[in-house]
Amino acid sequence: MSAKLIKGTEIRDAILKEIEAEVNEIKEKHGIVPGLVTILVGENPASISYVTAKIRTAKDLGFHEIQDSQPEDLTEEKLLALVEKYNKDDSINGILVQLPLPKGIDDKKVLNAIDPDKDVDGFHPVNVGRLMIGGDEVKFPPCTPAGIQEMIIRAGVETSGAEVVVVGRSNIVGKPIANMMLQKAKGANATVTIVHTRTKDLAFHCKRADILIVAAGVPGLVKPEWIKPGSCVIDVGVNRVGEKISEKTGKKIAILKGDVDFDAAKEIAGSITPVPGGVGPMTITMLMRNTLNSLKFKLGLM
Ligand code: NAD
Repeated sequence: MSAKLIKGTEIRDAILKEIEAEVNEIKEKHGIVPGLVTILVGENPASISYVTAKIRTAKDLGFHEIQDSQPEDLTEEKLLALVEKYNKDDSINGILVQLPLPKGIDDKKVLNAIDPDKDVDGFHPVNVGRLMIGGDEVKFPPCTPAGIQEMIIRAGVETSGAEVVVVGRSNIVGKPIANMMLQKAKGANATVTIVHTRTKDLAFHCKRADILIVAAGVPGLVKPEWIKPGSCVIDVGVNRVGEKISEKTGKKIAILKGDVDFDAAKEIAGSITPVPGGVGPMTITMLMRNTLNSLKFKLGLM
């Protein structure tokens, strides 16, 4: 293997330690800890496991955490009232409504009801606007793109003047990471191209990339011959391609593959993220950082 492996698990552990140290310091000086509430409506198994992981991480960091589980038949009106309750709750700095919501509830309406200053997911239009403006305006960069940028910075990859190609234009990954990489900021200042399903020649653009960020959700979409030798490849894709029995637990687990042909790509790239263990672990980590920062904004520490 020639490429340096950018391990999300290692970077996560380092960042969580930094967050924990800051939480302890703020607790000592100000007698307060960051507060995070996760609202889960219904019993979608994937949502339950995401929420459990988020809450466990928050607890381990010493946050004040609430898991507010609501029944599947909760009305939109009641959910909006719940969001409003946490908007007004001084002990809460971050509000997270786990998606997808049951049929009959308008996701957009609910997400837009969250106080933008507690919107630690960074999906509220106010925070999307702040991200677009950049600089001091930015409060909560969305978690997966923030994790990607942090990995690039911590891997020591030069971004200034770099050709960054982003595959995918979703609101949660492609568009925000492209926007972040072009800002006049640390870990940015890049020349950015976004490619998508209507792009005429995907290979042509990928081949130019000093930093290739792939978030398409198509296993093996990026072929090894599309990778510029020595480039940095960030594979955001998480695709279930089958099942296997876990050696650890003896239980059935999903076989996960990224959007990049990792085995071949690692012989060409200069650095690359694996799947699993790459971008995946960064999302919850950045959610924790946004929640800590929310408290720091409130205390005038940022
Ligand atoms: P999405 O489906 O909303 O968007 C995918 C984008 O890729 C679209 O804009 C589409 O135009 C583009 N695309 C799809 N097929 C393409 C093709 N053949 N050629 C060119 N462009 C193509 O997906 P998303 O929410 O942005 O997620 C993308 C992937 O990242 C998924 O595999 C998802 O599971 C993964 N993901 C991982 C994390 C994490 O690790 N924490 C977080 C979010 C998303």
